[in-house]
Amino acid sequence: MKAVMSRILDPEISLRKRLFQLLSTIALVEYCIVTVYNLVSGSSTTQIVIMLIGTILFAATVAFTFRSGHIRVGSTISGLLYFCIYPLTFFSAGGMYGGAPPVFAFALVYVFLVTEKWERAASLAVCILGRRHPVDVEHAESFLAILLVTLLLCMLFTFVTEVYRAENRIVQRQKKEIEDLNQAQKNFFSSMSHEIRTPVNAIIGLNEMTLREEISDEVRENAQNIEVAGRILLHTVNEILDMAKLETGGMEILKSDYRTASMLSDIVNMVRSRAMEKGLDFVLRVDPALPAVLCGDEIRIKQVLLNVITNAIKYTREGSVTLSISGEHGEDGRFKVVYDVADTGIGIREESIPHLFSSFRRVDEQSTHAIEGTGLGLSIVKQLLDLMEGSVSVSSEYGKGSTFHIEIPQEIVDDTPVGSLDLKTVPDKAPASQQNRLIASGLRILAVDDTPMNLMVVKKLLRDSGAVVETASGGTEALRKTLTTHYDLILMDHQMPGMDGITCLHRIREQESGMCRDSRVVCLTANVGADMETRYREAGFDGYLVKPVRGKTLEEEIARLLPPAPHTDS
Ligand code: ADP
Repeated sequence: MKAVMSRILDPEISLRKRLFQLLSTIALVEYCIVTVYNLVSGSSTTQIVIMLIGTILFAATVAFTFRSGHIRVGSTISGLLYFCIYPLTFFSAGGMYGGAPPVFAFALVYVFLVTEKWERAASLAVCILGRRHPVDVEHAESFLAILLVTLLLCMLFTFVTEVYRAENRIVQRQKKEIEDLNQAQKNFFSSMSHEIRTPVNAIIGLNEMTLREEISDEVRENAQNIEVAGRILLHTVNEILDMAKLETGGMEILKSDYRTASMLSDIVNMVRSRAMEKGLDFVLRVDPALPAVLCGDEIRIKQVLLNVITNAIKYTREGSVTLSISGEHGEDGRFKVVYDVADTGIGIREESIPHLFSSFRRVDEQSTHAIEGTGLGLSIVKQLLDLMEGSVSVSSEYGKGSTFHIEIPQEIVDDTPVGSLDLKTVPDKAPASQQNRLIASGLRILAVDDTPMNLMVVKKLLRDSGAVVETASGGTEALRKTLTTHYDLILMDHQMPGMDGITCLHRIREQESGMCRDSRVVCLTANVGADMETRYREAGFDGYLVKPVRGKTLEEEIARLLPPAPHTDS
């Protein structure tokens, strides 16, 4: 019964189907009651047989209609069945003074509501013919009255239904328009991000080359400023893209198992140097009882924490930034991880706190106008936490500092305590050292990109790596080269005119007598997004790097895929 009710009330199912379901259920109950009544009230065998056959046929028709979804056919047959059986049972049901008139009225309503156009006309014709049963002529007037009143009610209902349908069509059209608009907006933002990343890749990459040179202090300072400005621009593009995704519902939470210690290590490595550059102490306090392995969206958790810690560093002139991690086992079997980010910075006025998480809203502009920012970060934090069933709250004393309190429930994979973990035990990522620079010695690398500037950046970034770097300006040229030359590694752009990077990768893998069928291929693209890495790995790439890529990142990826070994290729 519950299932029937939920189907009848489900707005996703068409009105006609729902009406058919409702009325057929009522009719079936009525058939059964009349059959049982005939059985117990000692009706004639013929009547009982007619009702039994009618009930079975009706039930079979309704079942067929539900299974096949042929509402038109099913509703016409069941409607006709109603009117065929009706005259046969008229007198046994007490004639004009028995149960026949209400059943007749219901049958009319049934036909009117579940059938349409010619099916409705045919069913009503059978109804009229049925009424012309020779012995019921004496009750013609009464029947005519029932017929007219019922028809009038049916017409009224049909009118209301048509109005509902017309309005529904308008709503559906508007829904489709909004969906199209959302999609267009999504496409616009992701293509805008791609278009901005491509030239910024060249700026940051070539600037990195300048920084590697022997240059005067003034040029170095200029180049460092270009580097900072480039990173801010990229950060802003990423924030706008995330915001667009969140607002159009395109942001997905992708859960996977992760080691608590390694996640925290990544965070600390990313923020510690920034705090130190500003002369701030960075303090880490980890509850040793935290489970060693949790399951959740590690990338988004890192994004949330990075945002809040970066703000703490940004809005603190002196003192410290403290990240404390603790938690407790929840009643739902999950572990509620609690992150507290406390700073000794400028603080936030009490009246500004409710506005902190609104998009494009920067508070206390007088104190913060000199600090770069878009006012999007905390809004993204809040929305990401909502998606992860987490929460964020702030306590602050103006002029003294703030504490951001974040809670995120995570599934427990391994409840073994993580143990004591302090800053000293957190391994630092290898610096861009000189020995890294020679990591690709003797390797042959092919860079494929349709933008000549990008090819130049890769070539220059790998200039000191010892690798022989060749380039191809598109898929066709890449295939020509891989046919005759073995490359240890191919750096492949994705979006290229003619043949895209994924197609090119597949063609290289299948290339008959090709020299690079087993080579490592890394996607080096301006397409960013949490799901991109998975997408490119599924497509068959061995790695995924986002433009603008740093020399250090490129070298680390090469070292990961092709660990240095005695190699004497020329
Ligand atoms: P923004 O890009 O401006 O930093 P956010 O959304 O990250 O944008 O933050 C919104 C506003 O909240 C900031 O402009 C700043 O005024 C305030 N704010 C955020 N974090 C802190 C903090 N740790 N201390 C003081 N003010 C903060």
